[in-house]
Amino acid sequence: MEDTVPKSLQFLDIGELERTAFEGALADAGHERFRARQIFRWIYRHGVTDLEAMSDLPRELRTTLAADFTLTTPDIVTRERSTDGTEKFLLRLADGRQIESVFIPDTPATTFCISTQVGCAMACAFCLTGRMGLVRNLTAGEIVGQVRVLTAALELRNTAFNIVLMGMGEPLHNYDETMKALRILADDHGFAVPPRRVTLSTVGLLPALERLAREPIMPNLAISLHAPTDLQRGALVPINRTYGVADIIEACKRFPLKRRNRITFEYVLLAGVNDSPTDARKLATLLAGVKAKVNLIPLNAAAGIPFERPSDDAIDRFAKTLSERGLTVSVRKSRGRDIRAACGQLIVEGQRKSPGQQLSATAFAD
Ligand code: SAH
Repeated sequence: MEDTVPKSLQFLDIGELERTAFEGALADAGHERFRARQIFRWIYRHGVTDLEAMSDLPRELRTTLAADFTLTTPDIVTRERSTDGTEKFLLRLADGRQIESVFIPDTPATTFCISTQVGCAMACAFCLTGRMGLVRNLTAGEIVGQVRVLTAALELRNTAFNIVLMGMGEPLHNYDETMKALRILADDHGFAVPPRRVTLSTVGLLPALERLAREPIMPNLAISLHAPTDLQRGALVPINRTYGVADIIEACKRFPLKRRNRITFEYVLLAGVNDSPTDARKLATLLAGVKAKVNLIPLNAAAGIPFERPSDDAIDRFAKTLSERGLTVSVRKSRGRDIRAACGQLIVEGQRKSPGQQLSATAFAD
């Protein structure tokens, strides 16, 4: 019987390792721990993906790297640039699945909008990604890999940037890998992205939200609220039937925030559904006593989404009703609409051209 493990199974993927784990693995192989810092700098600061190209490493270490380690990096399938400077990247993962990541140049800082899952299980009524269902979770290395690929492709070295977990997927539904990705991103010898530059956007999976409140690495929090009552929200965000509005708001009130920090409440405006002055008043009442700011997102309409974007007047009126009640309100400018890089529009539109590759036919059954 074969007693050796196939070679491909022996490899440790450095992209999946936090630095301390990598240090341990190097030490086990008889190397100095500080080499991990050196290799992290090659990978995250210099964008090197080929372990053999790390020219200042001793020969024995390079032999170990070649024999025992690998570094998996997503491939760029397509890259589209919007007239507003936004760029949408379609990336292929090692198993052939595809995800999208978006570069937004100045909002006001450089921002990467990245995915945490292939598809999404949340099935929000107005979101195209939700139609795919969940295909699989991304690994921490695949989450961070998006940032590696985009910074390299855009030649962004030594530039501070923000990260929003607002691409495909529900980050709190892939809790462990998402948090591990944030720790890798925060590493001083890697990208060194401080948690205050990261925003995690979630439908509000309550147990995970409570867990997040106890994390040492605490990103900014954005809650996809979209409606002020359970009746309305339940129709838009199915998980609301499990974790309702009142419970989410209570959890937000308890959420530990640094001084002056606030929770963002995202609210997709849908004509005739959740955009009336009464809805705005109910929302203001609901958020009274919460350290909140509201980000209104006029629907990015697309074929297959059974809702419409409200008129500019309705959007202004909604925003005004909230600000008159003391809330800080912003209206999200839709970026990259000409390349379908806008919220909730990632992947599915492109996939329509090549069905069967990744989506089941049922994704478009309606
Ligand atoms: N699953 C997470 C993060 C990904 S979606 C969440 O729900 O928060 C990021 C944001 O885009 C969410 O607020 C989501 O509701 C919103 N969104 C989805 N589809 C949209 C659409 N068609 N138009 C505008 N915003 C949309």
